[in-house]
Amino acid sequence: MSRWVYDFADGSKDMRELLGGKGSGMAEMTRVLGAERVPAGFTITTEACVQYMRNDRTEPDGMADQVAEAITRLEEHSGKRLGDTEDPLLVSVRSGARESMPGMLDTVLNLGLSDESVQGLVRTTGNERFAWDSYRRFVQMFGNVSRGIAGERFEDAIKAAKSQRDVTEDTDLDVDALKELTQTFKDIYREETGDDFPQDPSEQLRLSIRAVFDSWAGERAIAYRRLNRIPDDWGTAVNVQQMVFGNKGDTSGSGVAFSRDEVTGAPEPSGDFLPNAQGEDVVSGVRTPRDIAEIRDWLPEVHAELLEILGTLERHYRNMQDTEFTVEEGRLYMLQTRNAKRPAQAAVRFAVDAVKEQLLSREEALATIDPSTLDALLHPTFDPQADFNVLATGVAASPGAAKGAVVFSAADAVAAADEGRDVILVRPFTDAEDVAGFHAAKGILTSEGGKASHAALVARGMGRPAVVGADAIVIDLAAKTITVNGANGGVLHEGDQIAIDGTKGCVTVDDVPLVEAHVDENFDQVLTWADEIRTLGVRTNADTPEDARRARQLGAEGIGLCRTEHMFMAEDRQPKMRAMIMANTREARKEALAELLPLQQEDFEGLFEAMAGLPVTVRLLDPPLHEFLPNLPDLAAHVERARIEVSDDLDDLEILLERVQEISEENPMLGTRGCRLGILYPEIYEMQVHAILRAAKAAEEPPHPEIMIPLVNYEHEIELMRELVVGVGDQEGLTVGEDYTVGTMIELPRACFVADRIAAFADFFSFGTNDLTQTALGFSRDDVESKFVPTYMERKIIDRSPFETIDKPGVGWLVRLGAWVGREAHPGLKLGICGEHGGDPESIEFFHMAGLDYVSCSPFRVPIARIAAAQAQITHPHGGWE
Ligand code: PEP
Ligand code: MG
Repeated sequence: MSRWVYDFADGSKDMRELLGGKGSGMAEMTRVLGAERVPAGFTITTEACVQYMRNDRTEPDGMADQVAEAITRLEEHSGKRLGDTEDPLLVSVRSGARESMPGMLDTVLNLGLSDESVQGLVRTTGNERFAWDSYRRFVQMFGNVSRGIAGERFEDAIKAAKSQRDVTEDTDLDVDALKELTQTFKDIYREETGDDFPQDPSEQLRLSIRAVFDSWAGERAIAYRRLNRIPDDWGTAVNVQQMVFGNKGDTSGSGVAFSRDEVTGAPEPSGDFLPNAQGEDVVSGVRTPRDIAEIRDWLPEVHAELLEILGTLERHYRNMQDTEFTVEEGRLYMLQTRNAKRPAQAAVRFAVDAVKEQLLSREEALATIDPSTLDALLHPTFDPQADFNVLATGVAASPGAAKGAVVFSAADAVAAADEGRDVILVRPFTDAEDVAGFHAAKGILTSEGGKASHAALVARGMGRPAVVGADAIVIDLAAKTITVNGANGGVLHEGDQIAIDGTKGCVTVDDVPLVEAHVDENFDQVLTWADEIRTLGVRTNADTPEDARRARQLGAEGIGLCRTEHMFMAEDRQPKMRAMIMANTREARKEALAELLPLQQEDFEGLFEAMAGLPVTVRLLDPPLHEFLPNLPDLAAHVERARIEVSDDLDDLEILLERVQEISEENPMLGTRGCRLGILYPEIYEMQVHAILRAAKAAEEPPHPEIMIPLVNYEHEIELMRELVVGVGDQEGLTVGEDYTVGTMIELPRACFVADRIAAFADFFSFGTNDLTQTALGFSRDDVESKFVPTYMERKIIDRSPFETIDKPGVGWLVRLGAWVGREAHPGLKLGICGEHGGDPESIEFFHMAGLDYVSCSPFRVPIARIAAAQAQITHPHGGWE
C-alpha cells in the first residue's frame, strides 16, 4: 500500500518533491528547532494530489484511512480531540507545492469548529469573543474555499453587521454580533449550496483536503504556473497542522520575517507583524502591519527568540529565509520557512555577505543567485510598487523600461532625439532600415515578432527596452495611429506618451515611475568570482565600436559575432550598397564595392580598437540582398504614382523596380543568402575580407580576426569560401592560422549531420541557434512567438518558446552532434554559439555540458552569461549528458 501521509516528525528538507515546500520546511524545522516550536501535524503528499487528479478527482486508495490514523496520532500528541465539546483540537489545512505559488492555492483555518465544539473553545480559552470570531472565520473560509461561495457574500454580511452596530473595525464587533454573523454565514452557506454547514469535523477535513487539491487545477494556479514555468503535473501537498492562535489577545500576534532585508539584502532581519491577528490578516492588507523590530518593545523575549531562530534557519538552510510565525499568548511558533525570493540587488548583496561571514563558499554563494533576475541591475525598470493600467501585453523582448512619445518611423525617432525628446519607436515590425531609430529611441514597441525577431535582436544588442508582438495593438503607419483592442482600448496618435516594460512585456499610457539601474561593488565582486570559476568563455555579439566597448566593460572576452550587414545600413553606405546591388556586370559591381571598401575597413578598425588583443569573429554578408532595397509593394506603389504623374525619376524607378522584382523571393530566409551570396558574388566577400585584414594590419594592438562564413550546408561551400579568404589573405601578405582564422556558422541541420566534412575546412564553428531552431523546427523566427507559441504553451505542446531556451532534445541534440562530430574530425576545433540562446541561463548550462568553448550574447547579457556559466561549472564540473 502506498504511503500518502507523513507526520512532520518523519519528513525532512530533502523530501521537498514529495512533501512540498511547506511540508518539508515544517518537518525540517521540527527537527532543527524542536517539536515545541512547530505545532504538530502531517503532510498529505504531492503524489496523492497527482493520483487524485489522474483518478478523476477521487482520493487514492488508502489515503482516507491514513489521514484518519494521522489525526488519531495528532489527537494523542495534543491531548485534544477534533470536535470535542470540552477542549476541541483545531487544525489548519494548507496547500504546499514544491515551488511556492503565493496566494494561488487554498487554505482553511480553524477547522474542527462546530456549533458544539465552539462551546469547548469558549470554555478552554475563557475567551468567548475569540471562540466565536474563530468559528465565523472558519465558516467563511470553508464556504469560500470548499464550496466556491463568493467572498463578497460574506464581506457584505460583515459590512452590514458593522453598520447595524455603528462600528468601523471588525475587531469592534462584540460576542453577540459575532454569534449572529456566524449564523448569517451558515445561512449563506445553505442558500448557496443547498446543504447545511457540515458539523462533523472529519467531513470538514475531507472536503477541505479535496478543495486544496482542486485549487491546483484552478484558473489562477494554472496561469501562475505558466508564467513561472512550473509543471502542471507536480501537484500540491496538503498540510494539516494543529492551530495556534495569533488572535487570542494582546500577547498574541502573527507575522512574516526574513532573515535579511528582503529588498536590499542588508544583513538585518526584516518583516511585518500584527498583534492580535491571524496570519491571513498580515498578508491581506486589511490592517496596516508593523515592523518586526517593534516586537522588541512589545514582547522582548519573543523578539530575541525570533532573531535567534532566523539566524539558526539561515545557517541551517545556508540561504536567506522567508518565514511565517505566530505568537500565542507570549509563545512563539514557527509556521513556515523557505528560501527567500529576492530582487537581484538583494541576491547579490546576500551572496557577497554570506562569503564574508563564512556562511557559504563562493561556489555556494553564486548558486543562490538567479541569473535571470540580474537584468534589473543593468536597466531601469517600472517601479515595482507602482499601480498602472496595462494597455497591451507582448513578448518581453529586451529588458528595462522606457517612456516617451510615440513615433512611427526611424527618421522621426532620429529627428526627435536631435531635439532632445524621448520617444518610443512603434512599428508593426522592424528591419535593417530602422536601426538608426533604435539608437535614437528610448524603447521599441512592435505588434509583430518574437524573441528572435529583428526588433528583439537589435534592441537587446543596444540595450534598448523592447516589447514585441503586442498583438492587441493595430499600427496604422499611414494614419500614424495605434488602435488598441481589448478592455483598455482606444486610439493613440503620434506624440502621445506611452511607457513600455521590456522586462515584463507590457505597455501602458500611465505615467509609471521608473527606478534607475543600480550597479555596485557587490555585483562586481560576484562577477569576479564567477570568472574565476567558469570554464565556458563569454563573448559578445556586437557590430559597432560603441557596443563592443560596452560589452568589454561588462566583461566580454571578445566578439563572437559581428553581423557586417548592419554596417551597410548607415546613411553614407546605403547608396553605395544599392549601386553595388543594382550593378548588372561584375565590373560595375566591383567599382561600387571599391567605394565601400575604405568605409568597411574603417568600421573594422573601430571594432578592433575596442577589442584590442581579443578575438573578433566577423561574419561575411548574410542577409538576402533585397533587404537593402526598398520593399516591393511600397516601391510598386511609388512607381505607379510616378507613372501617373510622369515624374522625372520614372526611368530610374522602373529600373529599380525591375531589379527588386528580379531578386525578390517567396521565402527569402531560405533563399539567396549566407554563403550562397559569396558563391554567386565572390567579389562582395573579397571586398569584406580585404577590409577586415587591412584593418587588422592597421591596428596598434592586433586583434585575432576570425572570418566566419554564414549558412554553410555542404563541405564544398566552405571549401570554396576558405579558398577565397586565403587568396585575399595571401594578397594582403597574411597567413591563415597565424594572422587570422577561417570558420563557419553551423546553423542548418545538414551542417550538423556533416560537421566532420565541414570541419576539414574550418578552424572554428559557431552555432547559429536562431537559424538552426528556425530550420530544424520549421518555425519562422519572426512570426511564431506572436502566432501559435502561446497556444502551444497552453496546450502543453511546449513549455516556452524554442527561440528563448534551446530545445534540448531537438535543436540541442543537433548542437551536440555537430560539436562531437566536428571535434572527432578536427581535434582542437574551436566551438562557440552566437544565437540568442547564448544569453539564456538554462541554454548556457546546456552549452557548457555540450562541451562548447564559449557563448556569445548581446552586451547587456554578458554579466548574466558569466554568472550562468559559473553556475553550470559548479553543477556539472565535467560536462555531461543530463
Ligand atoms: C543565428 O542564426 O543564430 C545567428 C546568430 O545569425 P543571425 O541571427 O544573424 O541569423
Ligand atoms: Mg543566422
